[in-house]
Amino acid sequence: MTEFRPIPKLYYDQAFALSYYSEILWQKSFVEGNGGNLSIRLDEDLFMITPSMHSKSGLNETDFVIVDSKGNKIYGNKKASSELFTHLAIYNNNPEIGGIVHSHPPYACSYAFSESVPSTPMSAEAVIWMGQLTLAQYNTPGSSELLEQVETLSKGKNVLLLQNHGLLTWGKSIEEAYWRTEVVEAHCKISHIMETRGSQPRHFTYKQMTQLSELRVKFLKNE
Ligand SMILES: [Zn+2]
Repeated sequence: MTEFRPIPKLYYDQAFALSYYSEILWQKSFVEGNGGNLSIRLDEDLFMITPSMHSKSGLNETDFVIVDSKGNKIYGNKKASSELFTHLAIYNNNPEIGGIVHSHPPYACSYAFSESVPSTPMSAEAVIWMGQLTLAQYNTPGSSELLEQVETLSKGKNVLLLQNHGLLTWGKSIEEAYWRTEVVEAHCKISHIMETRGSQPRHFTYKQMTQLSELRVKFLKNE
């Protein structure tokens, strides 16, 4: 039996951040049951992730698992999320990122559960934080097919809508990954309200979109 190695105190700040954003996801009903998973990059080859089969409410440092880039458990007593390898594939394809959030927000899911994606971004926040939403075709959660698909689609993006499943967002930090989840959900909610009301979206002009796209690139480069 492998010896239990508790998470070193050195990583308690990151454990607190993971616990904080897990709790917010749960409070906002962006996850349900044992759904959703979050992770943080600790080092080039070290990642902290939420445990399998746990609510995202009430997690603390004794619940999280620290793994290397191959998925080997280094610290922690619990089993890592079944989406561990999906997270590792995203980190591998996007070396600059520091955090990943996977959740099931209702408005984003209502689009992911149908054949449609919401209208193009209509706010500066949506253009800068989200960009064009990509809908990844359905694959079983935790399957090698989903892993291969995410490996291909995640490169250079920061948001993926998973058909009949949910949402994946990532960023330079777990905070940024979480903000992106909020921006996508707000965009989907507003799109839903407009569709229900029969409102015609007022799209940005080419010039406005170009300026916003430049801001997005600057922001992504952290300039
Ligand atoms: Zn899920």
